[in-house]
Amino acid sequence: MIIAENHGDRIIPVFCPKCGATATELQATGRKTGVVVGGVVGAALTAGFRGAKAGAAGGAAVASVIGRNPTTATMGAIAGALVGFLWGARAGYIIGRVVDEKLLRLYRCHACGEEFNA
Ligand SMILES: [Zn+2]
Repeated sequence: MIIAENHGDRIIPVFCPKCGATATELQATGRKTGVVVGGVVGAALTAGFRGAKAGAAGGAAVASVIGRNPTTATMGAIAGALVGFLWGARAGYIIGRVVDEKLLRLYRCHACGEEFNA
């Protein structure tokens, strides 16, 4: 009776089981979790592998241009970790959206605040 299927960008409204309103919203539990977990994992991975290398290389390159500043390599590593965080957060968001839509399917009604599974 309650149908929530994605047809491209068009979403069939989900009715609130309490008040019948269609002003319902898919809760972003998975997306929020995915962004945080993905971001941290992405930053850790990048800082551990690519970021350290790229950061050190980039930092050394910049340092050779602007003068021997030991913090430049560190700045490069931080920048690498930031890129990794953004990459991981994006991946986590995509995975989290699938979790929200396919697994959790937890909705909240804007009219009465009821939370329900659809
Ligand atoms: Zn409601």
